[in-house]
Amino acid sequence: MDEAFDIVVVGGGHNALVAAAYLASASLSVAVLERCAALGGDAATEELTLPGFRHDVAASAHTVFQQNPIVRDDDLGLLSYGLRYQRPDPVFVLPFADGESIVMHRDPDRTAQEIGRYDARDGAAYIELLAQWRLLAPLQGEERSRPPMTPEEFARHWRGGPLGDEGLRLRMASAVEVIRERFSHPRVLAFLYWASTLTFEAIDEAGTGLLPFSLTAGRQQYSWTTPEGGSGALPDALARLITERGGRIETRADVTSILVAGGRATGVETRDGRRFLARHAVVTGQHVTELPESLPDGAIDDETLGYIRRWKAGLTMFVAHYALQRAPRYRVRGGEQAAVAMGALASEEALERNLAAFRLGQVTTHEPFLLAINSSLVDPSRAPQGQHTLKLISIQPYGLAGGPARWDHEKEGVARAMLDAYLPLTTNLSRGDILAQALESPLDLERRNGNNFRGSGHGGSSQFGQYGYYRPAPRWNAYRTPVAALYLTGSTTHPGGSVSGFPGRNAAQAVLADLGIALEDVTACWRRS
Ligand SMILES: Cc1cc2nc3c(=O)[nH]c(=O)nc-3n(C[C@H](O)[C@H](O)[C@H](O)COP(=O)(O)OP(=O)(O)OC[C@H]3O[C@@H](n4cnc5c(N)ncnc54)[C@H](O)[C@@H]3O)c2cc1C
Repeated sequence: MDEAFDIVVVGGGHNALVAAAYLASASLSVAVLERCAALGGDAATEELTLPGFRHDVAASAHTVFQQNPIVRDDDLGLLSYGLRYQRPDPVFVLPFADGESIVMHRDPDRTAQEIGRYDARDGAAYIELLAQWRLLAPLQGEERSRPPMTPEEFARHWRGGPLGDEGLRLRMASAVEVIRERFSHPRVLAFLYWASTLTFEAIDEAGTGLLPFSLTAGRQQYSWTTPEGGSGALPDALARLITERGGRIETRADVTSILVAGGRATGVETRDGRRFLARHAVVTGQHVTELPESLPDGAIDDETLGYIRRWKAGLTMFVAHYALQRAPRYRVRGGEQAAVAMGALASEEALERNLAAFRLGQVTTHEPFLLAINSSLVDPSRAPQGQHTLKLISIQPYGLAGGPARWDHEKEGVARAMLDAYLPLTTNLSRGDILAQALESPLDLERRNGNNFRGSGHGGSSQFGQYGYYRPAPRWNAYRTPVAALYLTGSTTHPGGSVSGFPGRNAAQAVLADLGIALEDVTACWRRS
């Protein structure tokens, strides 16, 4: 039997859920349909290795999310639905193979002192970087929390800030350029390159120039923001809010088609033949490349289809999850240090080699870029008492020579090489401490969640315009697709991937505006701060 709602939301990733939360809070009846057994997409937590070891399947750090008004201002009252964050100190450690290290502490002056041990001018430049970000951050906040700007608006926006033309230059530069202009010691360069790569963008490409500012300042302010209970605590809290405000959430509901009548989206159909009709709108959190298959032929014009076909995946990851006997401790200058997050990047040359290999479709086994996350250090609920979870990530290409299917033969070897690079940076771990492992190649990440298009976990980017997530194609008005009453959210919409919730909030704002409802009127009823 058909059921009707004001809004039907496709997918239960955090962005779709954020959109649903705003829409349900506006007293609209909302149905959310997720194809998997659990909500959250890349923000889910599962027992991937052994019973009692709760691993974040993809995202762990909710640092970007802290800047979204849904947390920053608690503008829907979400924080009373059981979502709690830890902000550990130190934020992360970056040990080098020769016993040297740089630690990011919560206190920026302490971090600058760490940097200053290598070069006093670099220590001062770090403080200057954070100070300049205080001038630029409001501009970025405004860019992210509204629909993408036209090129003219964009240039005016960045030129009009406190740094004038320099603001636009920094916005359009590459992170590597910005770092090289300001810092000189090789260890400090490695520290900043590593920190700037945390959203898995190729930092030698134009348009990444703000990452050295935003990713260091964001971590200084909010630390390695770790949700208690795992990333899945976020979709769980959103689901509680949505259902309490009258919404309906269904898992194992795979949407196979979006219904269109008279050029307008009117609902969806699931694989098991159920139809969910939408009186006002369908909001989808699918990856943009999956959208055409869900729509009737001709619903999207050929020019737009061409842009969608040329969608580009971003940097892709190889992820190894481990159940551990003990928490790792890392080699740092003069001793050892436990930390929720650890990085490895040997040098500037190592960064260049990692990126070059990625572009050539080759795996990196020598001096890989590494990110290691030990969430159980600050959240004991993630593992049985005294034991720990570890996630080890490196940058590896999806398309190997011979095709992505090669990954099923390569992954054990790549994981061994990652451990060979990682274990010597610890003081207390050996292979004997590993109780179980679960390996996910870029191909496995795509198999787990189709939104990880070609293994990329941060959406990827449009080939339209030089502004990254500007919009998927010319005939695409921000979150409003070329089909009337069909809205797209998620990491393929502005401002792109990460657990930020901005695509979700912005998409909800577009739907509400088209219904004549101001988002501010909705949040005025629920805001807690
Ligand atoms: C290994 C890895 C580590 C990461 N680490 C971090 C991190 O630490 N911090 C951070 O900020 N970001 C991180 N990211 C990126 C971040 O996780 C993602 O960008 C973000 O979670 C995307 O959220 P989303 O809601 O847009 O989509 P997704 O989380 O991908 O959710 C999409 C959902 O829609 C569902 N769906 C799709 N099509 C249909 C359909 N037809 N019918 C029903 N359901 C459907 C999917 O099953 C999925 O549940 C990481 C990504 C990866 C892969």
